[in-house]
Amino acid sequence: MLETKTKMTVPFYGHVRQYHNIKAEIDANIQEVLESGQYVMGPMLSRFEKEFAAFHGMKHAVGVGNGTDALWLAFLALGIGPGDECITTVNTFFATAEAIWIAGATAVFVDSDPRTNCIDPSKIEAAITPRTKCLVPVHLYGHCADMKAIRRIADKHNLLVVEDNAQAICARGDGFRIGELSDAVCTSFITQKNLGTFGDGGAVLTNHDEVARRIRKLRNHGSEKRSVHSFGFNSRLDDLHAGVLSAKLKHIEEWTELRRKWAARYSAGLSSARHIRLPYEAPGYRHVYHLYVIETKRPEHRDPLLAYLNEHGVDAKCHYPIAIHQQEGYPWGKPARIVGPLTNSERNAACCISLPMFPELTEEEVDYVIETVLDWDRTVS
Ligand SMILES: *Cc1c(COP(=O)(O)O)cnc(C)c1O
Repeated sequence: MLETKTKMTVPFYGHVRQYHNIKAEIDANIQEVLESGQYVMGPMLSRFEKEFAAFHGMKHAVGVGNGTDALWLAFLALGIGPGDECITTVNTFFATAEAIWIAGATAVFVDSDPRTNCIDPSKIEAAITPRTKCLVPVHLYGHCADMKAIRRIADKHNLLVVEDNAQAICARGDGFRIGELSDAVCTSFITQKNLGTFGDGGAVLTNHDEVARRIRKLRNHGSEKRSVHSFGFNSRLDDLHAGVLSAKLKHIEEWTELRRKWAARYSAGLSSARHIRLPYEAPGYRHVYHLYVIETKRPEHRDPLLAYLNEHGVDAKCHYPIAIHQQEGYPWGKPARIVGPLTNSERNAACCISLPMFPELTEEEVDYVIETVLDWDRTVS
């Protein structure tokens, strides 16, 4: 017998709740930037870059326009370009591959691990050729890829490693930190990311002085000194965004703990569901649940469950229902190679559903989502 429960609306994002919770701190930083009169490459950007680098225990943070630019500017600064191959996955946000193509390199796709959905290290070596230059693991949904295995492969074959960390600030691996085992870490500060501003932003973290210097130059029209240029671009993190991010960085640990608390509540509440798989946290890892992604056990159940949730007021979504190699017209004349099969990545794309996940959720909302999933689960024979 289904109980009649009161219908609620559970949003997917909590940006405005978050703003209200720390409004005074954000407003003070915005005010400071406004009064300073320095809005591009000003003191607030330098301050945030120092804080962000220190937070990660890394030498340099360079603020750029967005996470996509962070990736391709890192590739350029590391000398990756036409003729070079970068190995990554197809079950990620499109920008991971896009950045490889913007840099002029070839994207090589291998399968992901069936439990973490991050790149499967055991699939990498079969994809390596004399042109392979870089491995690009994505810490998908907030769970780190197996960086120790990736580092071993990179050392053996003399490859660069660039981490796409748009989704996993504060995550940890079993015995490693983000940035510890790679050449550069790229992040995005778009609103919906765990550390997000009111608009676009991104950053590259690196311990290489020369790489940081190159990115600083590339983001600013190839200029290190006023009026002196070599070829570059315009991709900077504005001081207003840096001010917002500086205020929010002070709360990121507490917000991460809240995400983990909601994830634990979801996982406990949903453990009896028969037709879905729950997210996995590898032993010793710290998953930061940028997204709380369940998978239906059968692909034909995904759209009905998603529709059921949406009809019952739960704003669930899919990340990412169309894998990169399944996008229409792939690869659009861009250099790409698949070293397949991509069974796990395709299953992930076909079965994924992201439940609402943000620090400002309430117990009532989380429980309503759990009940709604369980109601659907009971309708399935
Ligand atoms: C968000 C995201 C990006 C791109 O960031 P933008 O700031 O939107 O350009 C890249 N990779 C992954 C995995 C992302 O989630």
